[in-house]
Amino acid sequence: MKASINPLAYCEGGFLGGHLGIHDKIKPLLKSATASFGITALNELQELYNGKSLVEDGQFAIDVMKYINQKVAQFKKEDGHMYALYGTPAENLCGLQVQQFRKKYGIVPNVSDKPYVSNSFHCHVSEHITPIQKQDLEKRFWDLMNGGKIQYVKYPLDYNTDAVKTLVLRAMDMGFYEGVNLSLSYCDDCGHQELNMDVCPKCGSRNLTKIDRMNGYLSYSRVKGDSRLADHKMDEIADRVSM
Ligand SMILES: [Zn+2]
Repeated sequence: MKASINPLAYCEGGFLGGHLGIHDKIKPLLKSATASFGITALNELQELYNGKSLVEDGQFAIDVMKYINQKVAQFKKEDGHMYALYGTPAENLCGLQVQQFRKKYGIVPNVSDKPYVSNSFHCHVSEHITPIQKQDLEKRFWDLMNGGKIQYVKYPLDYNTDAVKTLVLRAMDMGFYEGVNLSLSYCDDCGHQELNMDVCPKCGSRNLTKIDRMNGYLSYSRVKGDSRLADHKMDEIADRVSM
């Protein structure tokens, strides 16, 4: 890569030693940089291994993460570079990966039969588990993703702020960086609001605005009836129970 790929970092001093000419190669600066590797679809990995989800089992996925962490430690020692593993939602890749997998292996139940793979180390969005169960299950992976991660729970609690607070405090005790997922839908025709709806129960309109959490951010998943998100992510939203 040439320095001009990111002038602020490599040419204007944004990164340590970043005073290269625009045509210079960035290699000399990489010694002080961290190379991050995003990991996703651990739920599907466990399913592929023994037909169980991260909720039903998860040990194989944990063993794989431990193995990768050992390899990272070994490579760091060998070449002195910094590597990091992070749990990623892979917002476009999570759809592309399924297509790539299907080309090679076809449709495997609970692995490649949906248009997306699960984010990071998160339990599948369709699992019927409580927020407390989800926190406990995901805690197992917490120290194995030290390049970046989040634990989040969708609170099926009609904006019960005391309950949300209790669960956030529990997450803080567990050392999490905790995301609180609250969705909201409102009808652009009659103004009716509720947590989640695809058709307005008051007036029957589909002209809705919906806010959902996606890839770590609250976003409009629908504006005046139209989606603003990729199809495979809309499919994931439709499957959500406990995410
Ligand atoms: Zn309405």
